[in-house]
Amino acid sequence: MINKKMFVNGQWTEALSGKTRDIINPFNRESIARVSEGDREDAKGAVKAARQAFDAGVWPYTPGSERGELIHALGRLIERDRQELAELETLDTGKTIEESRWDMDAVAGIFKYYAGLADKNHGEAIESPLPETSSRVVREPVGVCAQISPWNYPLLQASWKMAPALAAGCTIVMKPSSITPLTTIKVTELAEEAGFLPGVVNLVLGPGSSPGAELAESLEVDLVSFTGGIETGRKIMQAASKNIKKIALELGGKNPNIIFADADFDLALDSVLCGALFHAGQICSAGARVLVQDKIHDRFVQALQARMERIRLGSGLDPETEMGPLISREHLAKVEEYVRIARDEGALLRCGGERPSSPKLQDGFFYLPTLFTGCENRMRIVQEEVFGPVITVERFQSEEEVLTRANSTVTGLSAGFWTRDPDRIHRLSRGLRFGTVWVNDFNIYFAQAPWGGYKQSGLGRELGRAGFEEYTEQKHIYQNHDPRAANWFGA
Ligand code: NAD
Repeated sequence: MINKKMFVNGQWTEALSGKTRDIINPFNRESIARVSEGDREDAKGAVKAARQAFDAGVWPYTPGSERGELIHALGRLIERDRQELAELETLDTGKTIEESRWDMDAVAGIFKYYAGLADKNHGEAIESPLPETSSRVVREPVGVCAQISPWNYPLLQASWKMAPALAAGCTIVMKPSSITPLTTIKVTELAEEAGFLPGVVNLVLGPGSSPGAELAESLEVDLVSFTGGIETGRKIMQAASKNIKKIALELGGKNPNIIFADADFDLALDSVLCGALFHAGQICSAGARVLVQDKIHDRFVQALQARMERIRLGSGLDPETEMGPLISREHLAKVEEYVRIARDEGALLRCGGERPSSPKLQDGFFYLPTLFTGCENRMRIVQEEVFGPVITVERFQSEEEVLTRANSTVTGLSAGFWTRDPDRIHRLSRGLRFGTVWVNDFNIYFAQAPWGGYKQSGLGRELGRAGFEEYTEQKHIYQNHDPRAANWFGA
């Protein structure tokens, strides 16, 4: 059994209340670790440490090149411990080891990318309209940043926040999901090994309702960056309004994957499976809403069903496994409820729709890959995020019709489409109201390009230069080189 604590001002500390929480492996419900369970007071302590480190200038005034070197060193340590980190992520989330290794490579890449940006914060010279004056704009670190991350991609989501904030010169308090904290704890250990000074990187553990809410409300926090569900995002916005702190929100989505009749059939089919079923569909950008043009609809659905029925469920640590369990009993119940709703709404169940019967899978939170056809725009299963291995298929005739339907959701995180027609590619990539549009691919993101949502999928952007700028404030510095009296008042 692994025992882990929180990290505040350079010290590994237990919760002030002494409380702990057992971390459960969703594959077999066994406890894999016991971690400190913080509450509001622990979060206050971590914020105080981050505030002191920021206000004393320890980190913000460290030259960007030195900050970059440390962040790069952290990236290299992540590469060194890639396998250990990947195993921890698989034990904690249930996802396959292959997916976890991919995540860890991406995480190391994020740190290296932002290490490279740390000394490229150039600012801008402005041509002042006033004679004998100069004007420039600099970007300064925003201050103390609270970073609240979800359970589905625990370290990947945390790294999208940690790396740019540290590169910009901010000090941070991270709060991972209370059910999947292990890799974020491990990366905090690596940050200590890399040599970050006390107070720059802090970690609090515990539920959203206490340390999380404290971070969002705190008057001492300058920015809260949150990834999670839309309902929690609303609460964060309300809490952050106390001191008008900056907010960055990465929320859920309902992501269409549109297959036109002229697409490469086999590649599009493969993209639908990868797009919708990574981490058993528990991915914000899951292309779980598939729209197939009438001409190829029946053949496509048949081929999709055949592949879904062959998916091997099991332990994420077994290299033969293609799909692991869902994260928890509560989440499994939510997915089951959506399947019930879909049947009531009139969707046609083609496969899955229940827990697997294999005795080997009875201890875990498994659900069979599930395919619905005959789906319509009005259905909740089509409009709302299910976050499970459930694909809905809608039939469409024309490009105009499918564009209107795809844009009809209240969220706008990501969308993809498959076609060979260059004019259609141009029209649709502009017409789709989503933060990311993939053409002849799906579920691709990398450090260099921005990520974020239109509509209710969020506020602000992570990744790319935009992800760095989120953690900066712009300051205009104006100087008069030949000041003269205006004599407007009482001269
Ligand atoms: P969640 O909203 O339940 O929790 C996310 C985090 O917020 C956790 O750390 C939790 O402890 C904390 N939290 C909960 N209540 C809080 C409160 N009142 N104040 C402060 N913090 C609070 O989300 P989840 O179930 O962990 O994650 C799944 C959701 O995340 C899905 O909706 C998914 O689409 C979304 N997501 C979005 C992206 C993206 O890039 N847009 C990426 C991954 C996940």
